[in-house]
Amino acid sequence: MRTTCPYCGVGCGVRATRSADGRIVIAGDEDHPANRGRLCVKGSALAETTGLEGRLLHPKMRACGGGALHAASWSEALDAVASGFRRVIEQHGPDAVAFYVSGQLLTEDYYVANKLMKGYIGSANIDTNSRLCMSSSVAGHKRAFGEDLVPLCYEDLELADLIVLVGSNTAWCHPVLFQRIVKAKAARPALQVVVIDPRRTATCELADLHLPLASGTDVWLFNGLLAFLADRGVADATFINDHTVGHAQALEVARSGTQGVQGAFDLEHYAGRCNVDPQTLLAFYRMYARTERVITVYSMGVNQSSAGTDKVNSIINCHLQTGRIGKPGMGPFSFTGQPNAMGGREVGGLANMLAAHMELDNPRHRSLVQGFWGSPTIADRPGLKAVELFEAIEAGRVKAIWIMCTNPVVSMPDSNQVKRALQRCELVVSSDCMEHTDTHAFAHVLLPALGWGEKNGTVTNSERRISRQRPLLDAPGEGRPDWQIVCDVARRMGYAGFDFAHPFDVFDEHARLSAWGNVPHERDGGNGTREEGDDGGGANGASRVFNLTGLIGLGRAGYDALQPVQWPVRTFDDGTPRGTERLLSDLRFSHPDGKARFIATAPRSPVYAIDCDYPLTLNTGRVRDQWHTMSRTGKSATLASHVAEAFVDMHPDDASRSGVREGELARVSTRWGSMLARVQMGGGMSRGSVFVPIHWNDQVASDARVGAVVNPAVCPVSGEPEFKHTPVRIEPF
Ligand code: SF4
Repeated sequence: MRTTCPYCGVGCGVRATRSADGRIVIAGDEDHPANRGRLCVKGSALAETTGLEGRLLHPKMRACGGGALHAASWSEALDAVASGFRRVIEQHGPDAVAFYVSGQLLTEDYYVANKLMKGYIGSANIDTNSRLCMSSSVAGHKRAFGEDLVPLCYEDLELADLIVLVGSNTAWCHPVLFQRIVKAKAARPALQVVVIDPRRTATCELADLHLPLASGTDVWLFNGLLAFLADRGVADATFINDHTVGHAQALEVARSGTQGVQGAFDLEHYAGRCNVDPQTLLAFYRMYARTERVITVYSMGVNQSSAGTDKVNSIINCHLQTGRIGKPGMGPFSFTGQPNAMGGREVGGLANMLAAHMELDNPRHRSLVQGFWGSPTIADRPGLKAVELFEAIEAGRVKAIWIMCTNPVVSMPDSNQVKRALQRCELVVSSDCMEHTDTHAFAHVLLPALGWGEKNGTVTNSERRISRQRPLLDAPGEGRPDWQIVCDVARRMGYAGFDFAHPFDVFDEHARLSAWGNVPHERDGGNGTREEGDDGGGANGASRVFNLTGLIGLGRAGYDALQPVQWPVRTFDDGTPRGTERLLSDLRFSHPDGKARFIATAPRSPVYAIDCDYPLTLNTGRVRDQWHTMSRTGKSATLASHVAEAFVDMHPDDASRSGVREGELARVSTRWGSMLARVQMGGGMSRGSVFVPIHWNDQVASDARVGAVVNPAVCPVSGEPEFKHTPVRIEPF
């Protein structure tokens, strides 16, 4: 069985077979373009995570007024969810209910959840844990390109001459892409790698240059680069004039207050702001200036910031100024965290998006989507983003929430606030494959969903490649696919439009919506495409890039046999959909005038600064062998052997000043809460900065949730939380 790994956004193809004694045997899929047979340790250990221990196998409900969860029939549980949501909507309006979903859902699950909330309930209160990982990239892409576009493909990593990895511990968080870069560099030593990260991570082992910039100073660094390049004439004037808007203003802001006495580029100033050695910074700027084929990869270290969107745009600005975009081996490249963060974006599964890359604030887009769905209503303003959503629940404005496939009591910032919110919420529903999570302590209804190896549908990886997840196991207990659970509830709420019999039916509707208002479709005889006189679905007449026309009408057999393909998929050959490797080669962007936008990015500091009480900066992130809140990877003994427990990594000088010693437990405290972690001095930390992984939770060890100590500040544009910068104090336990 060919399927796809459910962990990170690399989206590796997996071959899963059964041995003679019935065991599942996992191998990398040689034919999948993302990984060409490679798997990292998490993917390789997938068979260890498919057992039924800890699984939620039957619906459960809590009696009114509290008490323990007890077994219920599907009929009772679905009725409770549908009637509970109906009651709240009738009494308080559609914005009093919400869905909090996940980049772990398949596209088909995501599609129906978004359709139910935005087209039938009539609210945009559907947000996702992808808000926590890549919403700054989405916002940055939309500002620069007019649409959420990732222009490159993985093959570009092998064509580049310089790869700049910013805020990305690629070696641990996207291991197979790291392996591809390692191999490319071994074959072609002239390929240079720069790592920009406050920590000296495992990724630095490959680096020709490591820039350990101070936390939160990325905009300074890339503004400096923009100014440096301009001062040395490294700018593509034809590209800037013909294909962009706003260069002069962005450059003025990048230079603002930083020029020397005679207007010369002031290297010392930028180096001082970033707290890096000026000569190291100059070396990076020179490498970038003299290399045409540059790729800048950015990930959580950029996105998870109160200035996350500006950081993304400061990176894109440098590519626009040099015209290094839309051609092989160059461009800005966002590595997404989750396996289907991209698929969620396609279907509009964020509170500020509609569907098929259409816009909530565009009346024509709303009309198109509502017309396509034939729905009774359509949300007409953005809903609550993740942090706002849980604040609204605590404030009593949102009274019912359905959490799908995620564990916010562990993963959200200020997660004690999430506990308070769920405690006072009138109705908390969770559909999940696992029974015992920190979030389920607050749930009134649990709905058993399928897990990896049981689900059937599609995911989209960081290079826009749609791949199939196929079932190799029977559904356990009474588990159901998420898309079916959502449709069951929608029908009980009295809504038509959810009579899907198979995930293919959902996918086909998703593909048709992507083509609605765009181009004719031959295989379908024009069905589901634009009508005469309709000027298309793009903003103000500009065409959208996202398009799945070539995937319409595959039929179940074609869907089952679907090979990995990159969107846009506008055409097909002899029934084989033809994808698109690379975007923007025509240098036509999705803004109405077809031009890209430079964004003036004025640097600003993280929201909360260190002080005497909290003198260090907390950075959070992944370890190599665990995934999110460990509900699946925690089942694997192989994966547990890498890192056994939560740790706080710190510089020896900071440990000494804090009175803690390596190997001892320490209390990690911030204004928002505290947790316990074992002190490590891995050697990668700069003075003043500590690192704690995100995975551990109170099911595994008490007092181990890092979310409890992370501040709740967000980027004002994207709403993405500032996971990388919280003032913190470390004390002996
Ligand atoms: Fe899975 Fe990511 Fe590892 Fe590939 S790199 S096997 S997608 S966790």
